[in-house]
Amino acid sequence: MVKAISILGSTGSIGRQTVAAALRLGLPVRALAAHGNIRLLEEQARQLRPDFVAVYDPERAQLLRTALADTSIRVAGGPEALTEAAVIEGADCVVTAVSGAVGLVPTLAAIRERRRIALANKETLVCAGELVMALVRETGTELIPVDSEHSAIFQSLLAGRRAELRRILLTASGGPFRGRKRAELYAVTPKEAVAHPNWSMGAKISVDSATLMNKGLELIEAMHLFSCPPEAVEILVHPESVVHSAVEFLDGSVVAQMGVPDMGIPIQYALTYPERRRSGLERLDLLRLGQLHFLPPDTENFPCLAIAMDCARKGGTAPAVMNAANEVAVARFLREELPFGEIPRCIAWALRRIGYVQEPDFAAIAAADREARALAAEYRPEDGQD
Ligand code: NDP
Ligand code: MG
Repeated sequence: MVKAISILGSTGSIGRQTVAAALRLGLPVRALAAHGNIRLLEEQARQLRPDFVAVYDPERAQLLRTALADTSIRVAGGPEALTEAAVIEGADCVVTAVSGAVGLVPTLAAIRERRRIALANKETLVCAGELVMALVRETGTELIPVDSEHSAIFQSLLAGRRAELRRILLTASGGPFRGRKRAELYAVTPKEAVAHPNWSMGAKISVDSATLMNKGLELIEAMHLFSCPPEAVEILVHPESVVHSAVEFLDGSVVAQMGVPDMGIPIQYALTYPERRRSGLERLDLLRLGQLHFLPPDTENFPCLAIAMDCARKGGTAPAVMNAANEVAVARFLREELPFGEIPRCIAWALRRIGYVQEPDFAAIAAADREARALAAEYRPEDGQD
């Protein structure tokens, strides 16, 4: 088990559950970081007494510095502060729970320092999975997935050897719009899209679950984490979200990890691995459930998944472009600037327009990310026609 942690994105859904896990486990928290929710950051700082708090928004950082003036807690602003929090002295693990590609740079810094990475921020692997995993291997850093499916795969793989893995069964809840048609979904509201049936999550990932882009991001995340091609990952819609994912070994044995849908479990496991501790969280009652269902994913009515599968096969800068365009399109949908049905069209449009690099370095990935963001910010529904 780790000795002390820092939490990037401590005010978010995963971040708050990480704070709860740290308190439960009696685990010291050395640094906190978030974008701008300084009210909650102050509350967390007073409760956890970290050495350092990073606030991405520099003006808010100044306000928090004033608010915490009666303590010895240091506060800094800007993107570099996020990296400083990731490599804070005295912590041996960083929980990366910011949302979006902004998690990449601090995660790389923490890998170079050989801190255990408890990885929730899947966008990091989607954008730059090859380079991130190469650095993980080179430094011998522990990368423990927090995403429930990947935690399940990681745990299931402990039953055999990597070379014995035949395929991964990646489960998906199907989101709030499972069974609905593309045309009926064109104009659904942000409120409808973020109302997930099984999981309570941040707004961005909730929309990703509604478009099924989340499963596409997770497919790419799984390919990098477990070094396998996209054909070795089968996506199964499993509405109960109880089988968090499974692996099939060469002999035909399928090993799955199950549990109630509560992120507290994979978060805690990433911190206590290779041990397990009591969590006090709700326990799985299979008799009460009675049945579990599995269905094929619907890529026709949820084109974001088809786009992501295509980008997974293509590799190079395609996933980074897709991810950046998706982040912007989702933010615009949440601001009610773009209809829900335009999210996949905006992403496909950006992918058609941006030149593709096969084996990108970090600079090429950053350039693709910037270009995709700029294009997606200007996308209009008329553009999606061509
Ligand atoms: P939330 O939207 O709830 O929280 C996002 C967090 O990131 C907040 O603390 C926010 O700060 C912070 N943040 C956003 N932008 C920046 C920035 N530029 N600099 C510093 N901090 C920033 O997201 P979730 O907790 O739902 O998700 C976090 C990550 O975990 C995502 O990558 C998601 O895909 C992944 N994940 C989430 C799951 C879940 O159940 N929620 C499940 C599996 C994976 P502030 O509050 O100040 O804006
Ligand atoms: Mg997940």
